[in-house]
Amino acid sequence: MPSESVASELHGMRYEASRYRGDKIYGIGFGRPFEGETCMDKEPSWETPRRAHFTHEEDVAFLRRTIKVSRDSRSHGNTLFGDILVDEHKNIVLEQENVKITEHRCIAHAETMLADWASHEFDRDYLWQCMLYTTAEPCAMCVGAIYWANIGRVVFAMTERDLLAMTGSSEQNPTMDMPARSIFASSQKNIEVIGPFPELIEEAAAAHVGYWGE
Ligand SMILES: [Zn+2]
Repeated sequence: MPSESVASELHGMRYEASRYRGDKIYGIGFGRPFEGETCMDKEPSWETPRRAHFTHEEDVAFLRRTIKVSRDSRSHGNTLFGDILVDEHKNIVLEQENVKITEHRCIAHAETMLADWASHEFDRDYLWQCMLYTTAEPCAMCVGAIYWANIGRVVFAMTERDLLAMTGSSEQNPTMDMPARSIFASSQKNIEVIGPFPELIEEAAAAHVGYWGE
């Protein structure tokens, strides 16, 4: 999958993460030969407790990084959404901008793309210990993608309802109003959802100013 390595600083720590920019449409045949256990051989990965504990300050720092990624998305010609995947050791391992406009793909929300990419790169046990940080609460489609990717924890800055207040009935982004927790509550997995973060809503929303025709 086309990607590039980006070096950044977060809280004084340098890290390198891959970022999928969507230079090309990837498509069929990205499965790898299956060599592991079958799904019937062991307990489901989501029965394993999540090991990592993040402080509120760490969550805020990672959310600030997603706001930066969402601003990059806007400057690359897409809607201003972004997310990152953080492993249990608090390393950013993937970053994803929204690529819906430049790829002309209706499902290319940042969270769905990241979940798809992550499931290609990592196994389910690893992803169960990962956190997906995103600027706005994921939509129903993205919640589904996160669920199927088996990412164990989701952290967002502002609610989907906050976003709806900004986008209105924009044809580009006719935002839904469905709490992610309500969807996960109907699932088989105890995926942890953290958010919103009142101290970040203004900052996350600032990236949207002037975009939705207000
Ligand atoms: Zn979405």
